[in-house]
Amino acid sequence: MIKFLDLGLQYRGIKVEIDLAIETIIQNTDFINGQSVREFEQEFSAYIDVEHCIGVGNGTDALEIAIESFGLPKGAEIIVPGNSFIASSEAVTRAGHRVQFCDCREDTFSMDIEDVERRITESTKALVVVHMYGNPCDMDAVTKLAEKYNLRIVEDCAQAHGAKYKGKMVGGFGDVGAFSFYPGKNLGAYGDAGAIVTSDHSLSEKIRMIGNHGRISKYDHEFEGRNSRLDGLQAAILSVKLKHLDDWVARRRAVAEAYLKNIVQKDEVRCMTLLNSSECAYHLFVVRVNRRDELKNYLNTHGVETGIHYPVALPKLNAYKYLQQSSGDMVCNQLDGKVLSLPMGEHITMKNVKYISDLINEFYK
Ligand SMILES: *Cc1c(COP(=O)(O)O)cnc(C)c1O
Repeated sequence: MIKFLDLGLQYRGIKVEIDLAIETIIQNTDFINGQSVREFEQEFSAYIDVEHCIGVGNGTDALEIAIESFGLPKGAEIIVPGNSFIASSEAVTRAGHRVQFCDCREDTFSMDIEDVERRITESTKALVVVHMYGNPCDMDAVTKLAEKYNLRIVEDCAQAHGAKYKGKMVGGFGDVGAFSFYPGKNLGAYGDAGAIVTSDHSLSEKIRMIGNHGRISKYDHEFEGRNSRLDGLQAAILSVKLKHLDDWVARRRAVAEAYLKNIVQKDEVRCMTLLNSSECAYHLFVVRVNRRDELKNYLNTHGVETGIHYPVALPKLNAYKYLQQSSGDMVCNQLDGKVLSLPMGEHITMKNVKYISDLINEFYK
C-alpha cells in the first residue's frame, strides 16, 4: 500500500534528536512557557522573517486569537474562502463576528479576488486569506484590496509552512499569520500546537495576553483572556523538526514536479496551477478530476491511498445553513466533488509517483 501520510518513517529518521529533546524537557520540568517555547518562538519568527511569534494551543486558536486581537466591532463581517477547513470560518464566529464566504478559483484553488471585492460591504472589516494546500494566494492583489477598503488581514498558513510569494515566506504579508502544527502538517508536532506571527508589536502583546489569561506578569490580569499556550514538549519537538523543514519542503516540490511531468492533463484531469510569483509548499498535491469517487476507488484497489480536502464546501455544511450561501453557482460548491489529494510527503519515491501517474493516465484513457 502506498500510504497517504507516513509520520512513523519521518520519526525514525530523526529519532535520536527527538528523543533527546523530549528527555531534556522532562528532566528540566520545563513544561509551560519555559525556555523551549521561547526558543522555538524565536526560531520560527526568524524562519518566517517577522518580528514576533507567539505559540498557542493549536491552529484554530491561532486564527481565533489573531482575529480577536484586532478588536473589531461586534458583528463585523469577515470574508473567508468557501473551500477550506472549517477552522478558517469557525474562528470568525467564535471571535464574535459574521462569516461571509467568497469563492475560489478553479485553477489555483485559492481565493477569487474579484469575487472578494464584490462581496465587500460597509460592515466588512477583515479577510481570512487561506494559502490552501500550501499554494500562496495573490498577496499583491490581497494587499491592494485591504488598503482600498481598510481591511485587516489574517493569513491562514496552516497548510503553508515554507511556501513563498515573490521570494518571501507566507505569514509575513498580513497583519498576522496563523500556523497549525497539527501532526500531519508540513511542520507537525506530536500533538496539538499552533503559533501566530506578526511584525506589529502592539498586536503581538495583545495576542500573548489573550492566550495567557489576559496577563503579562503572574497575577496582573488586564482583561479576561483564555488559556491557549504552546506546550513545552511540543515546542522542543518543533525546534528539532524546523531544522529539517526546508529539506522536507524541497522533497515535496520534487514529488510535485514528478507528478506534473507524468500525469497527462486533459479536460477530465487537471493539476493545481501556481501563480508565477509563488513557490508552493505542497502540503497536498490536489488534482481536479471527473468521476472522482470512481478514480479514488480504482487507486485504492491498486494499493494507493488518497484523501479528499474537503468533501463538502463550507457554505454547504449544516453549520452554515443559517447563512443561506450554498448556491450551486459558486465554484467552491462544485469543486468539492472533483478534488482528490494524491499521496505526498518525504515517504513518496519517484517510482511511486510514476506508478500512481500511470494508473491515473490509464483510468482516463
Ligand atoms: C489544519 C487547519 C487548521 C486548524 O489547525 P488545528 O491545529 O487543527 O486547529 C486551520 N486551517 C486550515 C486551512 C487547516 O488545514
